[in-house]
Amino acid sequence: MYHIRLKIKYCSLLLIAGLGACKMKQAPRTDFVAPVSKAEKNWTAIFAQPKDITVTTMETGLIKVKVSDVLNLKNPTAKGMKDSSLYVPVFAHLVHHPVYGNWLVDSGLDSSFYTNSHGNIKGLVKAVFSCKQKKGQDITSQLRARGVTLKGVFFTHLHPDHITGVPGLPQNIRYICGKGETVSIIRPLGIKLFVSNQMSNVKQIEEFNFTSAQAIAPLGAAIDVFGDGSFWAVLTPGHTIAHTSYIVNSTSGPVLLTGDVSHTKIGWDKGIEPGGFTLNRPQNLKSLLQLKEFVKTYSQLKIVLGHELIQ
Ligand SMILES: [Zn+2]
Repeated sequence: MYHIRLKIKYCSLLLIAGLGACKMKQAPRTDFVAPVSKAEKNWTAIFAQPKDITVTTMETGLIKVKVSDVLNLKNPTAKGMKDSSLYVPVFAHLVHHPVYGNWLVDSGLDSSFYTNSHGNIKGLVKAVFSCKQKKGQDITSQLRARGVTLKGVFFTHLHPDHITGVPGLPQNIRYICGKGETVSIIRPLGIKLFVSNQMSNVKQIEEFNFTSAQAIAPLGAAIDVFGDGSFWAVLTPGHTIAHTSYIVNSTSGPVLLTGDVSHTKIGWDKGIEPGGFTLNRPQNLKSLLQLKEFVKTYSQLKIVLGHELIQ
């Protein structure tokens, strides 16, 4: 009886939390307008004209995940792999363009995670989101130490561990993601179990509208973000509805930021898509195999995965 009462109480709390989260404040959205592209529309020609742009990957802490979250253990290639918990790094990537300034790809973790493993995540089951952070590792401190003034943040997607740095950044800079990306995690029954509202004070969110972007084979739709061929946003859906990967066409060698198309090196090497965290696994796998094919053709690309560095 006590057990049933407790269950009812728990369910009503979840319902209230779900309704509350539905009213969550959201920043207004508008389409990102890219300058007219002067770049060639094939990757061989694009990589033949690298630009004076750099990217630096910063680790802002660690997040606890399960193997089955970052790898689909039901993929036949994963046969024999066991589930367990592990900590993986949470990255933010600093992109510097000599004309267009400093930008981030994903925001990492803010300093709230130094004193509290759940940081700025709120709600009934915030405990599922558990991080570790060293002093000064948060995104705000790392940008300050580098003397960086940010123009904006490009997101691979809006999962909590990619937006948790936003409260530590200026709210009136530009924030850009794929069209239709959502900030809340929705569980069965449509009830939002925890609140990830780090974007709620942002003035505006700009969205990449890939439907009007040109496809550049062998990848799909690609947007020349600065119009000079230096930095590209590429639609890689599946992990989330409009997951976006980025290509930095740097004179020190082109870099592919895969985002969570693949969290891990083993997932990348073996072609195993992410598991529990992924919205549409077959579509995620398709995006992953497409990126792998791309790298096979353009082996000069340095690959930076969502939550693991390839040394
Ligand atoms: Zn993710």
